[in-house]
Amino acid sequence: MSKKLCKIAKEDWVKNNQNEFYEIAKKPKYYCTKCIRAASDKSWLCKPKKLEKE
Ligand SMILES: [Zn+2]
Repeated sequence: MSKKLCKIAKEDWVKNNQNEFYEIAKKPKYYCTKCIRAASDKSWLCKPKKLEKE
């Protein structure tokens, strides 16, 4: 998994891979401190930080 959501979200990837994007985005556990995007796995993000639930 070398693609980063931060990058592919700007491209047509999301339009063409909506099922996969749904899996990445439905239950975010991490967010990117640089791009402010959220994903279920930190490997999707370029500067991942764990989301803390209060
Ligand atoms: Zn990022």
